[in-house]
Amino acid sequence: MKHLIVGSGITGTLLAWKFYQNNIPFEIWSDFQSPSASQIAAGLINPITGQRLAKILNYENILHDALLIYQDIEKFFNIPLIFQHKIYRFIENENLKFHFHQKINNPNFQSYLNFIENISFPNLFTSGEYLLIQPVYRIHLSLLLTFIHEHFKKLGLFFYKNFDDSNVYKNFTKIFLCRGYKESDSNLFPDLKWENALGEIIIFFSKDLQLYDIYQNQKMTIIPLGNDYYWLGATYLRDMKIHNYQPSEELENFLFQNLKVSYTIVNKQIGIRPILKERKPIFLQSSIEPQIFLINGMGSKGTLWVPHFIENEVLKNL
Ligand SMILES: Cc1cc2nc3c(=O)[nH]c(=O)nc-3n(C[C@H](O)[C@H](O)[C@H](O)COP(=O)(O)OP(=O)(O)OC[C@H]3O[C@@H](n4cnc5c(N)ncnc54)[C@H](O)[C@@H]3O)c2cc1C
Repeated sequence: MKHLIVGSGITGTLLAWKFYQNNIPFEIWSDFQSPSASQIAAGLINPITGQRLAKILNYENILHDALLIYQDIEKFFNIPLIFQHKIYRFIENENLKFHFHQKINNPNFQSYLNFIENISFPNLFTSGEYLLIQPVYRIHLSLLLTFIHEHFKKLGLFFYKNFDDSNVYKNFTKIFLCRGYKESDSNLFPDLKWENALGEIIIFFSKDLQLYDIYQNQKMTIIPLGNDYYWLGATYLRDMKIHNYQPSEELENFLFQNLKVSYTIVNKQIGIRPILKERKPIFLQSSIEPQIFLINGMGSKGTLWVPHFIENEVLKNL
């Protein structure tokens, strides 16, 4: 008998990858009707985030596990997946500066943070003081997902199928639900409290922007993707679901107000971050149906969290 993995975002896909490597029999299903957050995420791994410049606990160990698996997949398919960057974070207010001064003498932060007094990006309107955050990594998630899915399709392990909560699936030993935000529509784990947040992103093209590092302000990030394409994101729209989605103009306004050069918007996409009230990933067995397990709650940091979490919480407790 084999296991069933439901969902082919970064969580389901990396779980399937680890099963594949460990010769654990499985099938992976994806409905592809619900937008997968992983398909539009920037794939950024940033040690220091937020207005308070918070650093993730145990960051170095978690990063180590993440880079190991992404390097392994890079090698297996011979494709470039990991990109190392710097973030120039614009200092918009005294509050951010205050937090920088609080952190800068702390050895946990020192190697990642620097202050840059005067820098100007010639094609952006924002010049002044910046924080330099490095190293940060970007994982090319959509490429990674496509290669692994195609590989599993050829091996007869990947199927476009919808998992229906009301069906009984007797052909599988265990079922691992990795359904991202869609889990919040289900009653299999009734005690969970969800605080999902919808996010919009824009891919744009600009021959003249010539930005080679990541630019960030309090709300937005511009990431160079290569060949004059850029990722801009993301909005953070609480309490908005797909059915009541009202497009915001935040991203378009940001481009209009911050870029001095011409640009073309290629597309605008949405995704929903699967966020639990506890703000951390979880691995749970259903009390209603013991065959069913849940892996979820990756929030805004799935690229960093998933490899470590699968290795340390899921595989060790199978
Ligand atoms: C705009 C935006 C930007 C982000 N940027 C970053 C970033 O830079 N760095 C970072 O680390 N994280 C980022 N995130 C967060 C990251 O995307 C998530 O943490 C991560 O993608 C969650 O992955 P997941 O596999 O759990 O869920 P998802 O990627 O949403 O995947 C869920 C999967 O379940 C499938 N599914 C759902 N229901 C069913 C069903 N009934 N049957 C079969 N299949 C089903 C869906 O089709 C999908 O394949 C961002 C998120 C958003 C929205």
